[in-house]
Amino acid sequence: MRAFTYERARTPAEAAAAVAGRPGAKFIAGGTNLLDLMKLEIETPEHLVDVQDLRLDRIEDTEEGGLRIGTLVTNTALASHPRVRRDYGVLTKAIVAGASGQLRNKATTGGNLLQRTRCPYFYDTDQACNKREPGTGCSAIGGFARQLAVVGVSESCIATYPGDMAVAMRVLDAVVETVTPRGETRSLAISELHRLPGDAPHKDVNLEPGELITAVTLPRPIGGTHSYHKVRDRSSYAFALVSVAAVLQPDGSGRVAFGGVAHKPWRMEAAESAMPDGASAVADRVFADARPQPDNAFKVTLAKRTLAAAISESRA
Ligand SMILES: Cc1cc2nc3c(=O)[nH]c(=O)nc-3n(C[C@H](O)[C@H](O)[C@H](O)COP(=O)(O)OP(=O)(O)OC[C@H]3O[C@@H](n4cnc5c(N)ncnc54)[C@H](O)[C@@H]3O)c2cc1C
Ligand code: SF4
Repeated sequence: MRAFTYERARTPAEAAAAVAGRPGAKFIAGGTNLLDLMKLEIETPEHLVDVQDLRLDRIEDTEEGGLRIGTLVTNTALASHPRVRRDYGVLTKAIVAGASGQLRNKATTGGNLLQRTRCPYFYDTDQACNKREPGTGCSAIGGFARQLAVVGVSESCIATYPGDMAVAMRVLDAVVETVTPRGETRSLAISELHRLPGDAPHKDVNLEPGELITAVTLPRPIGGTHSYHKVRDRSSYAFALVSVAAVLQPDGSGRVAFGGVAHKPWRMEAAESAMPDGASAVADRVFADARPQPDNAFKVTLAKRTLAAAISESRA
């Protein structure tokens, strides 16, 4: 690991200004992703701004009937919160499908949203990778791509966003709150947080340098049957090949977002009108523009079957 300096910020605005004011600085929250990347020298921040003293660890009801989740709420606390379990069950199910109990005790809401890809070439510093080192090429295209994306890909990168929690937040229409280095607050829909790779895959999210996530807000509950199905190579402690977050209503309508298939949680609202016609009707629309690699084309069929399982479970 490269040497770095360290400070603990006292307010969100101070944290944001501290990262923005120093090239090569990063926030650290639970550290469960960043420290691994630093040990492998995939990330080499010169300065860390620890956000753990910011007192952003509360879950509160909003006036609109929703929930506001502080960025430092741990995955364990969020998944077990009574209102989340009752009103946003897809979120509890997605979180507990990820990582391990120990990791979830440490992992924070903001850090989870911003976890980086698990593309094997991103982790191998001997391989070309446009995300790790812009302009060097993409070893995954034409390489071992079993885990990688089938939709929203570019000529520069076919990585997936690896997280589970954000897929559930996408189906719930969550809103991300931030503070900028100038001390201004900003809200953006979760659909706008993560980016497609395009020709700049080193940029994972639409946040400016030093912009700090302070909270995530969930709108008022929408009812329905909530499910999260995650298919992976190992039955636990593995990232999704494909996941499906679904909220299905008794009349057959519903919402669905897919994980493990793109550089961001993948939801196509226009396809959801086909929900009463079944999984194939929805998946055919969602994956109409899929551009898989030879060894991950199975994901399109797998996504369809996983959605079929979610629909059938909700009707049982
Ligand atoms: C072995 C292993 C298995 C895992 N399996 C899964 C899995 O199956 N599913 C899954 O979803 N996840 C999985 N994870 C990932 C885990 O969920 C993340 O490591 C964790 O959620 C990151 O949260 P953190 O608080 O530790 O983030 P950190 O490691 O502290 O930070 C991650 C990134 O977010 C930035 N950051 C942190 N907080 C903020 C903020 N408030 N505002 C702006 N930027 C911020 C940091 O600068 C850093 O770039 C796994 C991790 C490991 C190590
Ligand atoms: S898919 Fe993206 S992360 Fe993986 S090697 Fe290519 S550029 Fe790097």
